[in-house]
Amino acid sequence: MTSRSITVLGATGSIGASTLDLIRRHRDEWRVVALTAHSSAAELAALAREFQAEIAVVSDEAALPALREALAGTTIEAAAGAAAQIEAAARGADVTVAAIVGCAGLAPTMAAIEQGGVIALANKEALVSAGDVMTAAVARYGATLLPVDSEHNAIFQCLQGNDIAHVHAITLTASGGPFRDWSLEQLEKATPAEAVKHPNWSMGAKISVDSATMMNKGLEFIEAYHLFPVGVERLRIIVHPQSIVHSMVEYRDGSTLAQLGPSDMRVPIASALAWPARMDTPCAPLDLAAIGQLTFRAPDETRFPATRLARAAVIEGGAVPAVMNAANEIAVAAFLNSQIGFTRIVQSVENVLSLGLAPAPTCLEDVIAIDAEARIRARELMEPVR
Ligand code: NDP
Ligand code: MG
Repeated sequence: MTSRSITVLGATGSIGASTLDLIRRHRDEWRVVALTAHSSAAELAALAREFQAEIAVVSDEAALPALREALAGTTIEAAAGAAAQIEAAARGADVTVAAIVGCAGLAPTMAAIEQGGVIALANKEALVSAGDVMTAAVARYGATLLPVDSEHNAIFQCLQGNDIAHVHAITLTASGGPFRDWSLEQLEKATPAEAVKHPNWSMGAKISVDSATMMNKGLEFIEAYHLFPVGVERLRIIVHPQSIVHSMVEYRDGSTLAQLGPSDMRVPIASALAWPARMDTPCAPLDLAAIGQLTFRAPDETRFPATRLARAAVIEGGAVPAVMNAANEIAVAAFLNSQIGFTRIVQSVENVLSLGLAPAPTCLEDVIAIDAEARIRARELMEPVR
């Protein structure tokens, strides 16, 4: 088999680790171009050595000396900073896994899109913020955007061989997160440690908090809007605590196709890496008899208003989703730093959204400016200490 080249943006994270675990198991089929991280220089260097990457990049320039030292004696290039990260992504690879967390991943992801390869997208915040700017670039440069997010990967699989014009509805499933059954009073007191303990998935801290607030599902709603053009009125959300059915597509004839699988991101990542073929994963197949029951219920937007905000944001369009995302990133960081309480996260997003709006972005620079401005506003609105 001829080998394919791969770049992993955010190689030291949870999605990065799952991706590289698959590559490790199919080592002779892949050649690693670039691996990036923010500041985890030692971890990044170890991965770059193991996978014989061409280049390793840390976005935090302060981490460059440590990266250089850890790569001493190898031919692997070491670089740092935002521009170096973009340059590494712009080297192009057959597959680029976009697995940086937050809107920080947007510029390198766009640089990879401009090379026209396959973009395996985990970094939902980038698509939420850039929206049409990203999908237009995908079309312009002939890139192939494959969703890694488990719900969107499920939907993508359920759409294969069908005409999207016959879709009646797309339903995103949501585990409901660790606080699914908590009362509002309990939610007020939820701690960062409790929020990052997801019942079904092991993930980075930011997305774990997003799952707890249901903002993750809000971001995914907007992500689905851009990936699958069926119109916002055909997008639904349902709570499914077992995280076995990863999402569903209902067709006009009453057929509903669903994708099921273990709660292990290696399954959707493998689907994107091998598409349109399939590859082996170490994941055990589902034992439905042992699982016994799959249950579903409507989301509760009183306790978890984030999905309501996201639906409104996508309907309003323009700069609103980017502002929502930026405000959420700031609020989640403040919560993780114990500066604000759990229920303040989504409240503060709503406060930033009520401030009025920037004009709709038409290019990457516009999106980055909107994101930066919204972060400033979000910080200003945040009470110093609770
Ligand atoms: P992690 O926090 O585990 O990893 C984030 C990665 O991005 C790390 O490599 C980190 O480097 C790097 N990074 C962090 N900040 C920056 C920055 N400012 N500039 C450049 N690189 C940065 O996140 P996850 O792997 O959990 O999530 C990654 C993305 O995938 C998110 O968008 C998330 O929503 C999405 N996703 C994740 C899922 C999961 O199961 N984890 C499921 C579906 C989607 P360093 O180690 O140096 O900090
Ligand atoms: Mg998801």
